[in-house]
Amino acid sequence: MFEQVPSFVDYHCHLDLYPDYEAQFRTCEAKRIATLAVTTTPRAWPRNKALAGATSMVRVGLGLHPQLVGEHADDLRLFEKYLPEARFVGEVGLDAGPAHYKTYADQKRIFEIILELCAKAGGKILSIHSVRSARDVLSMIEKHLTGTGNRVVFHWFTGSVAEARRAAEWGCYFSINQAMLGKTSTAMLIEALPKERLLTETDGPFTKIGARPAVPSDVVETTNLLASMLAASPQETRNLLLSNLMQLEKEPERDEAQTPSK
Ligand code: MN
Repeated sequence: MFEQVPSFVDYHCHLDLYPDYEAQFRTCEAKRIATLAVTTTPRAWPRNKALAGATSMVRVGLGLHPQLVGEHADDLRLFEKYLPEARFVGEVGLDAGPAHYKTYADQKRIFEIILELCAKAGGKILSIHSVRSARDVLSMIEKHLTGTGNRVVFHWFTGSVAEARRAAEWGCYFSINQAMLGKTSTAMLIEALPKERLLTETDGPFTKIGARPAVPSDVVETTNLLASMLAASPQETRNLLLSNLMQLEKEPERDEAQTPSK
């Protein structure tokens, strides 16, 4: 848990990809932004873990990004090596977008191994990428993670409302960034989801606010925008997001009830 009460939540940010990444870790701490620092390769684990270890607000995800699958043969072995040290896993998932579809079979094979490793270990929280692949990701989560005490956060979900409902029924959370807001599809998504499953994220530095890369403190504005969509005050929305975060990170029971796969 957190030593201090966080002020805001950025549940998917690539802190290690900013030029001033060490300062980014410190800023999250100073501004009390509860941040999940996701990584794209397990080779980044030791350095990120050391930087996060000096904070109480930053957690690190052990990652193996689907867009990088196949670039380093050693990554899966390293992922398995570090997994016992990691409570958080991400960024992992599938990407069936045009630029990455050619590796899709490989991505599925590796994601399946990752899910099986998490299933055996139990108690992990996964931040998952699902570009044009929400249905496959969901089927794999239902198949491999049901009843294993693992929890899932869909990062930048772009699947259908029906798929979002199916994911929520399983127990998934959804981290929402500013690039998603203002779109009809996102408004429909937020309306369809239980508000207890919503979180905020930036996906910085890959997203932009105006001309600059988004930074974790941009979740303040994301929270305000989300508040107007929920017809709630910014303060109520902030409290909601913090309470969702605490619920998500509560120590799970190994036999925690989850909807059985269909
Ligand atoms: Mn990302």
